[in-house]
Amino acid sequence: MNPDMILIRFGEFTMKGKNRGKFDKRLEQQVRKAIRAYENAEIKSTYGRMYITLNGEPYEEIAAKLKDVFGIVSFSPIRQVASELETIRGAALEVMQSLPERPSTFKVSARRVDKKYPHDSQEMNHLVGGYVLREMLGLQVDVRKPQVELRVEIQPEGTYVYSSVVPAAGGYPYGTNGKAMLLLSGGIDSPVAGYLGMRQGLEIEAVHFHSYPYTSDKAKEKVIDLVRRLSRFSGAPIKLHLVSFTDIQTALAQAGQDSLIITLMRRSMLRIAERLAETSGALGLVSGDSLGQVASQTLGSMNVIGRAAELPLLRPLITMDKNEIIRIAREIGTYETSILPYEDCCTLFVPKSPSTNPNLTIVQKTEQRIEGLDAMIEEAVAGTELMIISPEIRNVVETAGEDSWF
Ligand code: ATP
Ligand code: MG
Repeated sequence: MNPDMILIRFGEFTMKGKNRGKFDKRLEQQVRKAIRAYENAEIKSTYGRMYITLNGEPYEEIAAKLKDVFGIVSFSPIRQVASELETIRGAALEVMQSLPERPSTFKVSARRVDKKYPHDSQEMNHLVGGYVLREMLGLQVDVRKPQVELRVEIQPEGTYVYSSVVPAAGGYPYGTNGKAMLLLSGGIDSPVAGYLGMRQGLEIEAVHFHSYPYTSDKAKEKVIDLVRRLSRFSGAPIKLHLVSFTDIQTALAQAGQDSLIITLMRRSMLRIAERLAETSGALGLVSGDSLGQVASQTLGSMNVIGRAAELPLLRPLITMDKNEIIRIAREIGTYETSILPYEDCCTLFVPKSPSTNPNLTIVQKTEQRIEGLDAMIEEAVAGTELMIISPEIRNVVETAGEDSWF
């Protein structure tokens, strides 16, 4: 049975006042974009709630889209019927009978919003509940812990009958909490960090460092694919900045401080990412660091690395263990791409024993000794290749000279 409508619930976006309208409006835009292929579906917003009238459009497909819209806490497929007792009873029975599993206990929670309707909420609980009990043998009422709560909302425009509440992604509508630059490697962690940042309302742009020709075109395609997968959640194209890191990495590797190479590389990455962030109006950086996971992610390393940038460095995965990160990666569809075996620039010069507790003064002195490091960073920023990635559209590549299509 295809429901008539979908009721969408979203969080109390607690920053009240003017902001509230901004969040609600943005959420409506995101829902509109997510379901734009379903031309007959109509969206209607009331304070704190949103309804989609399906007009025959397929519920399951639209539900799948809604699960990816940030800011939606949950939704319910509902039947809308005329506010007449017999019709409401019929709809209630249909809803109960169409549950995937037949429950053994239930209760009716009626709410009379339209005070012109002759029966109040209590009476409706009995009138509807009694009817369903008579029609479905073996079913019992449990008002404290029912398996199914059948809701009957009597509104002026009609009565809504529904029971299931489908959990969705939650968070804040995309882009309502500012913009940040995501440091995106080809690994498992950083796409998940990007997803979690986006779910918290951050608009993101991504930066990826490659060491072409040491890293292959395949490695680049992998990152493009990851951004494409993330763009499913933004409802908007995502910018990907591709930065050549070859010269910097070579210079850092020659500095004679083997155990500090990763620390030095991460610091240069942050400096470049910060420059790109400033040009694009991003007020923060996002990385996939998780405390203790590797040598560069100890507290000591993060202290020394983090000082290379002044913008706040957000680390959504900081306290998550790897299994949890992998679970999310699978859920959001980035895992399979992340585990493809192409070289990342950082795996090229991995030292035998990377420092887990680098000394800031030594690191800074080493950087000062590397001739032309600042200029190389400038050059890397200037030579950045920009791609604009969206879920459907083929990618536009903007490089210094030519435009090409992927
Ligand atoms: P990931 O799975 O995200 O690669 P990781 O556990 O392999 O993470 P590292 O390789 O130490 O960890 O990287 C830590 C973080 O630094 C990454 O999560 C990412 O944010 C950033 N980073 C590492 N390499 C790159 C790169 N080539 N381009 C952009 N960012 C990178
Ligand atoms: Mg990595």
